Amino acid sequence: MSASVRRAGDAPATSVRTLAILGATGSIGDSTLDVVARHPDRFVVAGLAAHRQWQKLAQLCRRFRPQLAALLDADAARSLERELEADGLPTRVVAGIDGLNAVASLAQADTVLAAIVGAAGLAPTLAAARAGKRILLANKEALVIGGAAFMEAVREGGATLLPIDSEHNAIFQCLPRDYARGHAAAGVRRILLTGSGGPFRKRPLTELAAVTPDEACAHPNWSMGRKISVDSATMMNKGLEVIEAHWLFAVPRERIEVVIHPQSVVHSMVEYVDGSVLAQLGHPDMRTPIAQALAYPDRVESGVGLLDLARQGALSFEPPDFDRFPCLGLAFDALDAGGTAAAVLNAANEIAVAAFLAGDARFTDIAAACGETLARVATQPVRTLDDALAADAEARAFARAWLKLPAAAPVRSGHGTAA
Ligand code: NAD
Ligand code: MG
Repeated sequence: MSASVRRAGDAPATSVRTLAILGATGSIGDSTLDVVARHPDRFVVAGLAAHRQWQKLAQLCRRFRPQLAALLDADAARSLERELEADGLPTRVVAGIDGLNAVASLAQADTVLAAIVGAAGLAPTLAAARAGKRILLANKEALVIGGAAFMEAVREGGATLLPIDSEHNAIFQCLPRDYARGHAAAGVRRILLTGSGGPFRKRPLTELAAVTPDEACAHPNWSMGRKISVDSATMMNKGLEVIEAHWLFAVPRERIEVVIHPQSVVHSMVEYVDGSVLAQLGHPDMRTPIAQALAYPDRVESGVGLLDLARQGALSFEPPDFDRFPCLGLAFDALDAGGTAAAVLNAANEIAVAAFLAGDARFTDIAAACGETLARVATQPVRTLDDALAADAEARAFARAWLKLPAAAPVRSGHGTAA
């Protein structure tokens, strides 16, 4: 059983936390820095990292004055360096995967926010794990790919994982403090993961092939990056979250249930053997789970308004429709298959979603490409992370070919989808 998701009492609360933020220019990066800026007495930013959005990173460096900034893209990193030098800022700029890893393992940072999107986040998140950091995990794809090997790296490095994904953060809040004893000893019967059903919950199935990227990204409740927004529209996001919950909380697949909850107010629930169901509620705003994890075990104000249930009105729940959302079923299949299957599914999904966002594939091609890749790329056991990464590469190549996309240029590491 995993003991990596730690509870209160494992570490004393420190008054000032020093942060490194991976994916600083994205949606989670924005929400995190919004919370951080509200508590300058508690949080200091030591490192910032992103893909290639150097102008935005320059603004963040001016505002938060980190000692280290990294961009994956070397040209963008040079532009950032020139800009910061001209401003007379002391921030050192580094580039490439080594640069991202340097931010992730920065000696001065005790806490690393892992919010790079997709498989590209795996290497730097592992660097943070090996450096024994307190990792606030948003980058669910890293855990989906790495599975047991990722959790092992966290354990070996003496790192701590705190979930930022709203559902997992809700579950974390609903579990007992001594959960490290395991779900059976804790009396947990089921984890109930809620999901809104996204923008196409009621769209006639015959119209789904023609929906546009902007329609898919128009989530009814949450404002998020484009990749996770498309994942929410296919419900692959919930599927990845089922796999994420399996690893984070060491619960078997048959104890994880998905419940459609269109209002996104109940962020997830834990059902106990005595019939109790504990839920965490709040507005759908990522600043709440981010603030919870940043300050844990303390509580700090997050900027999110208070929930007025009388004004909120009815909360509704229904079972998921696996015909409408085939990606959700594929994720359960991948979990059943074990080994490299989850890495294969995630890789196919990243390729298909990027193709859909680029106008090179239809919305319905995403599930088709994922299903085909999962069926055709053989599942192997995962002995080390290299096994998972090899499966990831094979699945990407298969999905590209199946979608008739041009072969990808070789990359040393990482497969970023967003700037
Ligand atoms: P986003 O697209 O808004 O931001 C992604 C960030 O990652 C950017 O800073 C980008 O520069 C960086 N990035 C992308 N590719 C990179 C690469 N190859 N190397 C280095 N940096 C790279 O995405 P987001 O919505 O903020 O999501 C980030 C992660 O958090 C995802 O894994 C997502 O599933 C997870 N998450 C997001 C939300 C949300 O509300 N946005 C909620 C739960 C979980
Ligand atoms: Mg989520």
